[in-house]
Amino acid sequence: MKFTTIFLIFSLTLALSAQKPEWCQKLPRPEYANLERIKISDPWFEVYRIRAGVFAIYEPHQFEEVISYLVLGSRKAVLFDTGMGISNMRKVVEELTKLPVIVLNSHTHNDHVGDNWRFSEVYGMDTDFTRANAKGSTEDAQAELAPEEICGDLPPGFNAREYAIKPFHITHWLHDGDKIDLGRRTLQVIAAPGHTPDSIALFDEGNGLLFTGDTFYAGPIYLYRPETNLDDYVASVKKLAALAPRLKLLLPAHNAPVAEPGNLARVVDAIQQVRSGKIKPEPHDGKQEYKFSGFSFLMAK
Ligand SMILES: [Zn+2]
Repeated sequence: MKFTTIFLIFSLTLALSAQKPEWCQKLPRPEYANLERIKISDPWFEVYRIRAGVFAIYEPHQFEEVISYLVLGSRKAVLFDTGMGISNMRKVVEELTKLPVIVLNSHTHNDHVGDNWRFSEVYGMDTDFTRANAKGSTEDAQAELAPEEICGDLPPGFNAREYAIKPFHITHWLHDGDKIDLGRRTLQVIAAPGHTPDSIALFDEGNGLLFTGDTFYAGPIYLYRPETNLDDYVASVKKLAALAPRLKLLLPAHNAPVAEPGNLARVVDAIQQVRSGKIKPEPHDGKQEYKFSGFSFLMAK
């Protein structure tokens, strides 16, 4: 290669990486190196098999790095969250299973319900917050498309200007403790209000799995919005931490789809330290971040 060509490639690479937001330059996260990747046709998503019949559907091209889960039984499947609604999750799900699919959300923030509208069976928690979010929304969705929020290409044909969370219809109302029998696998709904009034965790007791939603993940855990209730959050993390002896794995809704159950006790301890005023926060985007090893809390000033 001529020197000028090498120089050109070098400066082009430099220019491209300069355009990439900082969070996206750090991907992939190390946890993914040991996971089994499943081939699918849509490059917006990455799919990993976490356990037999448990798939993580990850969206690494958007800042939230949201993770939805497809959980299979012998007769039915649950799709725990439907992601951003930026590409077509239903198509991905149809590539992974032929079973009838029930959609269930970890909570109804925009980044978890984006493709609910594409599914005919949607279970929801019986709360006013859920009912309000089922009407759809635009503002939060639009904010997710800011240039620093996107890593790589948006899907071809995606209409950024019209992007919104479409309204969806809830076909069945759920309550704390309800069990969903999928055939050879039962999932229990565990109300975990705090992050939102309708936050839940999903407990697969037979396999020692806990899908934690946004109550726990390895990143700044968002506790700053008006719908967050900190007293409820403390009670919920205590409730989940009490399950730890029966758990083998946590499957969070952002960043990485695997975490140690021992994290739950650490979160209980951490949030109590924060609330008793023992931890000094660092400023973060007009909010306060309380940092611990492996996770942090993002709270209002
Ligand atoms: Zn959320």
